[in-house]
Amino acid sequence: SKSRSRGHIVMLPFMAHGHLIPFLALARRIRRHAPFAAVTLAATPLNLRYLRSTMCPDDDDSGIRLRELPFRSSDHGLPPDSENTENLPYSQIATLFHSSLALAAPVERLISDITAEEGRPPLCVIADVFFGWSVDVARRLGTKSIAFTTGGAYGSLAYASIWLNLPHRSTDAEEFSVPGFPERCRFHRSQLHRYIREADGSDQWSKFFQIQIKLSLAADGWLCNSVEEIEPLGFDLLRKHLKLPVWAIGPLVPPHMLQKSSPVSPNSTLKSLQKHAGKALGLSIEKCLDFLNSHGQNSVLYISFGSQNTMSPSQMMQLAIGLESSGKPFLWVIRPPLGFDIKGEFRPEWLPPGFEDRVTGSKQGLLVRNWAPQLDILSHGSTGAFLSHCGWNSTMESLSQGVPIVGWPMAAEQAYNAKMMVDEMGVCVELTRGVESRIEAEAVKQVIEMVTEEEGKGREMKKRAHAVMEQMREAVKEGCEDGEQGSSVKAMDEFVRTILGDSTNGALSFPQ
Ligand code: UDP
Repeated sequence: SKSRSRGHIVMLPFMAHGHLIPFLALARRIRRHAPFAAVTLAATPLNLRYLRSTMCPDDDDSGIRLRELPFRSSDHGLPPDSENTENLPYSQIATLFHSSLALAAPVERLISDITAEEGRPPLCVIADVFFGWSVDVARRLGTKSIAFTTGGAYGSLAYASIWLNLPHRSTDAEEFSVPGFPERCRFHRSQLHRYIREADGSDQWSKFFQIQIKLSLAADGWLCNSVEEIEPLGFDLLRKHLKLPVWAIGPLVPPHMLQKSSPVSPNSTLKSLQKHAGKALGLSIEKCLDFLNSHGQNSVLYISFGSQNTMSPSQMMQLAIGLESSGKPFLWVIRPPLGFDIKGEFRPEWLPPGFEDRVTGSKQGLLVRNWAPQLDILSHGSTGAFLSHCGWNSTMESLSQGVPIVGWPMAAEQAYNAKMMVDEMGVCVELTRGVESRIEAEAVKQVIEMVTEEEGKGREMKKRAHAVMEQMREAVKEGCEDGEQGSSVKAMDEFVRTILGDSTNGALSFPQ
């Protein structure tokens, strides 16, 4: 029957915005490469609602099915409706990680249901690397398990190796080497988040990551949201370490952002976004685009720390003073500092007296509360640099537009991403690290002057970022009569052939 021949792919994103976004993008990419297969994205109720709100059921997303995994945060000692890292203080995030183990039973039911309905198990389960438990579930139910890392190759390997080996514990020195990396890539204690720095293998964080990462190392293959050509060292090391197929299928940014002809007209983006986002976001898009339109090419510093990070009150004050004294235009996605409700009201006393009135009055700056249309900002010609926490999605989005980065890594593998971008790519300069560091307004001013200057290091970074952008655009080329297929397109085809099994001849042998 028709349903027997279609095949099914089950996808399991971790409960964080920075994971849901690339998972949905991957689901869309898979639908394009394997239109014969059904794709089911499964998530807990709140995360499912978020996915649904960003999908366009009328067109591209019609083939993506959503399935709810029952989950009650209060059963796990979490506050009500806390199913996503974004709604939690850092102290409770380890609890959220552990609570995700409870998803194994409903995932098992989901796979069994699909198997019963279609007369055979799904082609594979693509699960977040943090869901190592799913490797066992998949194997038991006769399907392949693929781990998807929403990070880059270098950053994911560093993250895995540091959790598994805790290398900083065997030395008192500030610098140490990390298993899997050559001696020249030494890491520094300040690149470790407090939870890793203090981990000893018996704490809640180690207990989760050491077990789940180890399980994911036994998957049938890894998908990675990155591009072979932009981090050759990372992929070389990752493959040596994993001894599994690794498919570099990124960057998972919306296809229109990777087209040769520069940015789509702001108007069409605005319309499509307003169609799918609330009015509040629509208004902030208009405000952002007006601001960017009023400034020159490559002149604006965009500042954002992703979906869940903020800085300390004193860091916020110094950043504001430095920005204003630089005299350069900036667009800052701002939220309450550490120690306050990150989703709460913003208080003017967190900034220098009269700051917002002055910078908005003079049109030097725009403050956007909490959330901004990042893709529209990065693809706008006026955006010249990005002060970023170096989350991997932000990194891919920025580099895909040729925008160099001022790094201020906060958590997770962000400091390793920054290190790779500084040491290997040359597209980044670090301002500081973490929430405990002291930063001076003068240092902020200097770094802004450096990245916006027409000559010297700033210009070099811009050139490198542009070269990385070109590599990314090449990688997603579909290929035509005289053009070669890009590496990410090839990798995706190889992945699809692998999950179909060696006996078939790829996509063509499957009826639509
Ligand atoms: N994002 C956004 N507007 C914001 C902040 C974040 O659209 O104001 C999006 C951003 O484009 C990216 C994601 O949220 O796709 C953040 O992912 P990232 O990996 O950079 O950081 P995380 O949130 O995981 O720390």
